[in-house]
Amino acid sequence: MTSVELNTGVPHSARIYDYLLGGKDNFAADREAAAGITVDWPNLAISMRANRNYMARQARFIAADLGIRQFLDIGAGLPTAPNLHEVVQSVAPQSRVMYVDNDPIVLVHARALLTGSPLGRTAYLDADLHDPDAIVASPQFRETFDLSQPVAVSLIAILQFIVDETKARRIIERLMAPLAAGSVLALSTVTADSAPDEVNKGVAAYVARGIDEKARDLRTVEALFDGFELIEPGVVLVNHWRPDAAAAAVPDEHVHMYGGVARKQ
Ligand code: SAH
Repeated sequence: MTSVELNTGVPHSARIYDYLLGGKDNFAADREAAAGITVDWPNLAISMRANRNYMARQARFIAADLGIRQFLDIGAGLPTAPNLHEVVQSVAPQSRVMYVDNDPIVLVHARALLTGSPLGRTAYLDADLHDPDAIVASPQFRETFDLSQPVAVSLIAILQFIVDETKARRIIERLMAPLAAGSVLALSTVTADSAPDEVNKGVAAYVARGIDEKARDLRTVEALFDGFELIEPGVVLVNHWRPDAAAAAVPDEHVHMYGGVARKQ
């Protein structure tokens, strides 16, 4: 692990996100970038928290209501309570989770993600979403999953960094292709629909700091699910996706993420 190149002088999306959620795994360059970005995007931290709560709600739903026991979480992010494996293993301790991220600092902290229930399994792969074939060809993927059973793929707050629609669609196709019928695609990604001025300025602030990012409108997010069967309530602002009291209390103009969950037939 000591040979990992953290590149601490350059801001990274995972560490900016960690800082805005109140975490400690970030460096001066990330904090400076976060301070600059939030001048233009003041409600970013509220939106990120709403997204993280959505992650936990949809994972619990997929485990409890759809009965899925295998999860591939790409863009895992730094450990923060609750992590996805904690959510799904609290529903079913035998649940298996494979995390993927391409940020070296997430790799350094991966041990904290790998403390799953002894009945279940957790694995970590350092890989880039731009190369989905490397993810499905990895030993971690083969060893973690029983491909005769459904797998839930989560792409939570990562597709905003895949700015080309054709590429984003191709990535989803490649990830879902080897999976059994009944497998699930769960995603969330940035939108400017709920606060156009703020989010468009905020996205430009990321791009100005060397982090390519885009906002998508509702139809473009829905199109990411083409070929899959969206589960109620479809694609909505994440605070509207099967909300609990905390989600219902967040005003729409502070939520800049669409989310949805769909099934492969
Ligand atoms: N899914 C978590 C974290 C979102 S932050 C949550 O919703 O709370 C986005 C994460 O995606 C970061 O950890 C970042 O390192 C990772 N990421 C960004 N681009 C990536 C890529 N091309 N391949 C793999 N991971 C990527």
